[in-house]
Amino acid sequence: MKRALYFVKKDLRINDNAALNLASQTDKLLCVYVVDEQWFKESNFQSKPLGEARWQFLQNCLSAFDQQLQKFGQQLYIVYGDTLSTLIQLCEKYQITDFITTRLPGTYENKLISQLSAKLPRLTVNQVEQFTLFAEKSLPFNLENLPISYSKFRKSMANITISALAPPPQYLPSMFDTLPAATNFMPKWLPVKAFKKSKQGTNFNGGEQEGLQHLKQYFSSNLPSDYKQVRNSLDGWKNSSKLSAWLSYGCISARQVVNSINHFEQQRGKNSSTECLYLEILWREYFQWLHYKVGAKTYQFKGIAAQRPLTTFYTERFNKWCFSDTPYRLVNACMNELRLTGYLSNRGRQIVASCLVNVLGVDWRYGAAWFEERLIDYDAAVNWGNWQYIAGVGADPRGGRHFNIEKQSETFDPEGVYQAKWTNEDQATSQTVDTVDASDWPVIQVSNNGS
Ligand SMILES: Cc1cc2nc3c(=O)[nH]c(=O)nc-3n(C[C@H](O)[C@H](O)[C@H](O)COP(=O)(O)OP(=O)(O)OC[C@H]3O[C@@H](n4cnc5c(N)ncnc54)[C@H](O)[C@@H]3O)c2cc1C
Repeated sequence: MKRALYFVKKDLRINDNAALNLASQTDKLLCVYVVDEQWFKESNFQSKPLGEARWQFLQNCLSAFDQQLQKFGQQLYIVYGDTLSTLIQLCEKYQITDFITTRLPGTYENKLISQLSAKLPRLTVNQVEQFTLFAEKSLPFNLENLPISYSKFRKSMANITISALAPPPQYLPSMFDTLPAATNFMPKWLPVKAFKKSKQGTNFNGGEQEGLQHLKQYFSSNLPSDYKQVRNSLDGWKNSSKLSAWLSYGCISARQVVNSINHFEQQRGKNSSTECLYLEILWREYFQWLHYKVGAKTYQFKGIAAQRPLTTFYTERFNKWCFSDTPYRLVNACMNELRLTGYLSNRGRQIVASCLVNVLGVDWRYGAAWFEERLIDYDAAVNWGNWQYIAGVGADPRGGRHFNIEKQSETFDPEGVYQAKWTNEDQATSQTVDTVDASDWPVIQVSNNGS
């Protein structure tokens, strides 16, 4: 008799969920999501792994997935605590024979699976590959030979086909008889405030239905045909697909997105915009495989480069950057949008990341960790991979990206509309980045008339 525990992570959906299909072939099933207590505590880089905006989105995703499971007579058992000990306890209590989960590239996730297998050696562990477009065995190279630049990766993937979508399960096995009473998907004891979304912001509501509806809406419009022309805009719900948040929690799969692109191309024609959109999804794919390949280097100061960058940590500069108090109006506006909504355009992310690293000289990992806390669409491989890229320690043969803030402002916000929208005019901002020098002495400001 197969007694299964399906450890739900970034696969909060019923459709195209091969892990759930595998779980449906067992005799008894427990579907578990662990809200890890560490997510709400500050990490080494002064930020928390999970901030209020994403936590709100995640609660919606969990609630929606639980409702879907209930249609099959199942339930999502949500536990707040330490992930490893929770899983060990549940496996032991319910004499689990089969552990099923979606394979993810994170080093923490991999360590967890190794520790679980070491503690429970008789457990059959199934890691289903579905967070990526392709399975590892269908890559045209061994992982250790993954091209070290995206363009080479893209070329090598040109003729690789994507497998068909997994159908939704017909049936799910029953739960264990002795389960605790209905679990609370919004634990009231969590030390987290509700996130007050800015009225001007984007509109991400968590859950599979919301994600599918957005996918359908986007691809039933003509927007994908113009994607390339507008994707670099700083603002505008329609200027890019806005699929990232649902993709990051697996409310929709990357394969479903590519299917929609293909369908759109068949119906309305392929052009450079639809191709460009596919290539962005392929960027996401590349960062996942890069993370699998380089593991913990994803989070290290030196990244995958030969040399350490020349940056360091300055508390004041970092805080000013986080809280929109730099001398750069465009950067402040972007950081306001991020804090108030949990989203920032790709262009905005590039500008603020380059400012932190290249202008303020701050260690890139602090910025990546701040994004991790604040972004609704946070994805470990994509976020840390992009930060490395900009900091010049990642998969970039050109060695980093330096964006000139003034030029960016002239090109992408010539009338200052974006900046006006996201600037709090009542808030005075600093004209300098430092009020103390390296030995903590106050920096004396010299006024224009020399006094
Ligand atoms: C410093 C920095 C940090 C980032 N952190 C994240 C993150 O944590 N999570 C995340 O999903 N994206 C991240 N991105 C990538 C990108 O900014 C977002 O994916 C995009 O802005 C999301 O909006 P969209 O869905 O409308 O994107 P679209 O432009 O419509 O793109 C479609 C999809 O392609 C993928 N994609 C787009 N741009 C990139 C990119 N540069 N790298 C990899 N995949 C991409 C995403 O899955 C996106 O949903 C980051 C970019 C930078 C520069």
